[in-house]
Amino acid sequence: MLISEAEKIIKDTYERRDRSRGVPLTFLHFVEEVGELARSLRSKNKDDIGRELADVFAWLLSVSYLLEIDLEAEFVRYYGKGCPKCGSTPCKCPPLEG
Ligand SMILES: [Zn+2]
Repeated sequence: MLISEAEKIIKDTYERRDRSRGVPLTFLHFVEEVGELARSLRSKNKDDIGRELADVFAWLLSVSYLLEIDLEAEFVRYYGKGCPKCGSTPCKCPPLEG
């Protein structure tokens, strides 16, 4: 499934609610789902983690279409040719600290 296909599913299902809620509150829901994903990682239950990952992705899609940003095009633009910093696949950047 393409990102644009996933976006269509979320848009068809939630667009009216998302538009009436607006960007700031929709973004808040996205952040809440990131928190739930963090908690699910502690459980190490793959079903729970998968569900939370899907929720995070769904809310991210809502935020992006409310902002009229084509997430699929942006993803391809930034990551379509490998790491956006070093330009390599796999990435050859030094490891992140922490
Ligand atoms: Zn890199």
